[in-house]
Amino acid sequence: MEIDATALKSKGFFQQVQRDKFSLRLCMSGGTINTDYLKKAIEIADTYGGRQIHFTTRQQIEIPYITAENVDAVQKLLSDANIRTFIGGPRVRTVVACLGAAVCKFGQIDTNDIVKEIHDKYFGLELPAKLKIAITGCKNNCAKVEANDIGIRGVDHGYLMYFGGCFGRETRVGKPFLPVLKEKDTVLKVIEHTVSFFVTKAVKGERLGKLIDRLGIDTFKKAIEVAG
Ligand code: SF4
Repeated sequence: MEIDATALKSKGFFQQVQRDKFSLRLCMSGGTINTDYLKKAIEIADTYGGRQIHFTTRQQIEIPYITAENVDAVQKLLSDANIRTFIGGPRVRTVVACLGAAVCKFGQIDTNDIVKEIHDKYFGLELPAKLKIAITGCKNNCAKVEANDIGIRGVDHGYLMYFGGCFGRETRVGKPFLPVLKEKDTVLKVIEHTVSFFVTKAVKGERLGKLIDRLGIDTFKKAIEVAG
């Protein structure tokens, strides 16, 4: 069987070092899934994978050891369960979050609520470069927000936003350019303006932090303060 690894990758199946095997990455946001979702992942791993599930550093579920001939059957299972697969490349990636104030006694903001709104609106949106977003409920920073292009941290029951971070081949720490925002809707507007700024100003492959460096902090602040 001829294998088109690039096509399979676009469907969420990543070719392994064992080149006839693929690791399926599922789309989840905020690190929380219901048990039906997990049962479906287990069913796939048991039936078509290697009876293993891996949790990635960005809170994704990965199911390794799926062979190419089983991809169609796995896709049917996913489609019936309404489960999407991971989308990589120059896009808005899945949003990382801690449990936040709905569960954690230290939480200053409801992370679940804002994760869902951001994910539903932006996940998979094509951009000049990847854009990673993380939300953490308090100063303990379990979601490590400064390592993301956009980070949100709960502070005094408000939202402190960080911009321009990344962690990977290059590492840089995101910086806060705004005061603590008290309203979730203001945060969402700032994100909207940040994404718009990124789409219109960034060149191909340029992450948000480098764009801010190139155009200057004042230009960036002006663009996002319009929303605030
Ligand atoms: S960042 Fe704070 S709110 Fe979130 S899980 Fe950690 S301690 Fe709890």
